Amino acid sequence: MTRIDVTKPFLPPVEEYIHYVEKVWQSNQLTNQGPFLREFEREVSAKLEIESNSFQFVANGTIALQVALKALGVSDGEVITTPFSYVATTSAILWERCKPVYVDINPDTYCIDASKIERAITPRTRAIVAVHVFGNPCEVDKINEIAQRHNLKVIYDAAHAFGVKYNNQSLLKYGDISTCSFHATKLFHTVEGGAIICHDKRVNEEVDLIKRFGHIGDDHQKLGINAKSSELNAAMGLCNLKYIDQIIEKRKLLSDVYNKHLSNIIKTMHVENNTVQNYAYYPIMLHDEKSTLKLIELLNSNDIYPRRYFYPSLNTLPYVKGKKSCPVSEDTAVRILCLPLFYELTVSEVELICGLIKEMLNDV
Ligand SMILES: *Cc1c(COP(=O)(O)O)cnc(C)c1O
Repeated sequence: MTRIDVTKPFLPPVEEYIHYVEKVWQSNQLTNQGPFLREFEREVSAKLEIESNSFQFVANGTIALQVALKALGVSDGEVITTPFSYVATTSAILWERCKPVYVDINPDTYCIDASKIERAITPRTRAIVAVHVFGNPCEVDKINEIAQRHNLKVIYDAAHAFGVKYNNQSLLKYGDISTCSFHATKLFHTVEGGAIICHDKRVNEEVDLIKRFGHIGDDHQKLGINAKSSELNAAMGLCNLKYIDQIIEKRKLLSDVYNKHLSNIIKTMHVENNTVQNYAYYPIMLHDEKSTLKLIELLNSNDIYPRRYFYPSLNTLPYVKGKKSCPVSEDTAVRILCLPLFYELTVSEVELICGLIKEMLNDV
């Protein structure tokens, strides 16, 4: 039997990638906002239905968050954020010398609980960094209203939200900035990569300057960093973009099979109203940590490797100071598992996984 991991990167037919590689060899332009990068930015923004000049392709999703904080002038203050995410959401905040202030999550959506944000605001609060967890939209209207009232910036870590629509438009349109990750393990990938989506022209220019060392020619305007991506990464994006509808369709089919077997016996993903999902993840919630670990063991013994997304709750990280408890997030983190979901996974493999889950649940 072959090993089944939580995810497996999609690879386009190799000839299609080689076609781009040959052109890169001819042009000799490898990076620095080359023709494929610009073509990719145009095509991907058209696909997502956002204006192409509001989309900037960068090296990864973590640097996208860091550049977003810098470009919005968020430095050394407090940033309200979620404890339930991949570690990069918190590390970007800490790396930019800000203090993460954790606000607990909604137990159904796993996103930050907007009704708890206001009481965490202090005179030092600068921004809110929220995550559309597993592609489920945050309470964007409420968060926007709070931010307006307290003059805070809003950044959405939209690493899971590629292709998600909310209220008939791209979820990436919300907030001062949304960031994406195009890492190999994500729904849509460029091997490594990320994006900064921003609809304000001035902030966009700031992002553009910061991401390439803060200078234009010999004119050094401000402190920058290298957040650029390359022609070869853009080429992978151009190849994969042609398959994204097919990829999402297959993931939908597999998710429906999971739902058919599991949604009556275990807590599965809740989807907000007015949302067109992208089927990036398939999380389930067990009753307690003990049964979660038991299920991992059973699946592992069958060469199946789900992942504890997200564990641990970020407010408990050893290098986060001034720990504050977030009971919902801490409880979720020890009970949640993301099941395998990727393009090459088959219906019978999903049925096998569901069978093992049922077997374990009947056992307890
Ligand atoms: C993957 C991920 C990131 C980091 O993206 P990279 O491209 O790997 O740097 C950030 N936030 C979330 C929620 C993620 O899942």
